[in-house]
Amino acid sequence: MADFDLAVIGGGINGTGIARDAAGRGLRVALFEQNDLASGTSSASSKLIHGGLRYLEQYEFRLVREALAEREVLLRAAPHLIRPLRFVLPIDPALRSPVLLRLGLLLYDWLGRRKILPGTRELDLAIDEAGQPLRNIFHRAYEYSDCFADDARLVVLNAVDAAERGAAIRPRTRCVRAERSDVWRLILNARGRRDVVTARVLVNAAGAWAEIVAATVLRQVPVRPHLLLDKGSHIVVRRLYEHDRAYVLQAADRRVVFAIPFERDFTLIGTTDRSFSGDPSVVAPTAEEIDYLCGIVNKYFRASLAAADVVWAYAGVRALYDDGAGKPQDIGREYALVLDKRFGEAPLLTVYGGKITTYRRLAEDAFDRVAHFFPPSKRWTAQSPLPGGDFAYDGVEALTERALRRWPFLTGVHARRLTRAYGTRVERVLGNAGRLDDLGQRFGADLTAAEVRYLMREEWAKTSADVLWRRSKLGLRLTEAQCAALDAFMAKPSE
Ligand SMILES: Cc1cc2nc3c(=O)[nH]c(=O)nc-3n(C[C@H](O)[C@H](O)[C@H](O)COP(=O)(O)OP(=O)(O)OC[C@H]3O[C@@H](n4cnc5c(N)ncnc54)[C@H](O)[C@@H]3O)c2cc1C
Repeated sequence: MADFDLAVIGGGINGTGIARDAAGRGLRVALFEQNDLASGTSSASSKLIHGGLRYLEQYEFRLVREALAEREVLLRAAPHLIRPLRFVLPIDPALRSPVLLRLGLLLYDWLGRRKILPGTRELDLAIDEAGQPLRNIFHRAYEYSDCFADDARLVVLNAVDAAERGAAIRPRTRCVRAERSDVWRLILNARGRRDVVTARVLVNAAGAWAEIVAATVLRQVPVRPHLLLDKGSHIVVRRLYEHDRAYVLQAADRRVVFAIPFERDFTLIGTTDRSFSGDPSVVAPTAEEIDYLCGIVNKYFRASLAAADVVWAYAGVRALYDDGAGKPQDIGREYALVLDKRFGEAPLLTVYGGKITTYRRLAEDAFDRVAHFFPPSKRWTAQSPLPGGDFAYDGVEALTERALRRWPFLTGVHARRLTRAYGTRVERVLGNAGRLDDLGQRFGADLTAAEVRYLMREEWAKTSADVLWRRSKLGLRLTEAQCAALDAFMAKPSE
């Protein structure tokens, strides 16, 4: 008998989503990620749970409708990680007709089947606060709803849930070879330690690496490539404006760039679209991309941005399923699931493309493709909260107040950060601490040893980057010396 029913290569949102879905159906699941969970594209997105207003221009109605419906499903499943966000779209008649924009937004509202999120309205920028930071050449705007998510934590919590349902989650474990017979025999390299496991079904969810995995790990004979790789970069600057809404800025090349309130004191700006080839592990924003993003902000905002204002920048590689269309930004953000089954040989399912927004649906579809190899089971993830998400979709403030009563030594900022990250599981992070000192060493910002230990124990954190850039964004606030102290603490054997 094989060690596992289903093995997944890739610990991004799609791999962890598939592992969670399958583990919840009672299968024996293993997931292998070569680096940290969410170290690939899934921590480098714009972090929007959205239908993608822009895809309406490409007539991708089905994709938009399905993605829009996921907004409220995911908001209810992870109200700590996902929040509704209003987007202000200043009207520039030279770029898009206001009438067409209004019609597009009506369609967006209508396709969205909203119960929670408010619909579109028109703003007079001379009166509304949203007009204040903008240059006075913009007079009117539309305002509509989507959601904003902590993409990397969404990945980690899918992995946590999968593990709690019995899955073996193995970060820092690269699948170097997969030999196919009536079962899959996977050769693994876990930071120098070799391991071999077997599985009945294999899922290649390696995202932008999927075709590299196909060629080098599965040794598949190359066929026409299905993936077009496309790089996107973001910049983070000190907060550009005071209110809590985001802006959608139309660029002269017909793309849109978002400016989003980020981590309380910052604004996240992105993204670019640049075709990419090579190793997705080596991807970084270029000076030209940073100038492009600053230039678009400067067209809209009174404040002027330059590369020197950028406090953090990151890039990721989209794996776009090549449906034979033209330029990268016109290629559908749809996903494709390709099942390779051969008589007498274990099946292989390859995931191409996909979005953070649609990962849960993708996981259901992926399971459907291989369901006939396993006992019957039902879809279950639409109504199941992710770890810590078992509270009302609008309950973060109430949870924060409860935390402040329970641990009165916390500041409001600290309590809100913890409830946003851990939801109801904040109890497991703070335990019975009666004063701040009970949480142990402080590393800077409001990061304490108790939180770091929780992340090491429950969420596979091993290095300061795992804690500061994926399981939180405290990297924006810590100095290099503080990061080094954190690394030293994490390297010590636990007492
Ligand atoms: C700039 C940008 C902005 C985006 N914005 C949004 C957005 O706002 N909303 C949205 O819904 N989507 C957005 N997306 C899309 C979304 O981020 C991706 O579709 C999604 O993250 C892909 O997840 P994945 O799991 O397929 O890939 P990944 O997250 O890349 O995961 C694949 C993993 O496989 C691992 N791997 C590779 N080879 C091996 C091996 N041999 N063994 C073990 N592990 C291996 C890699 O290390 C990697 O972690 C954006 C993408 C980009 C690039």
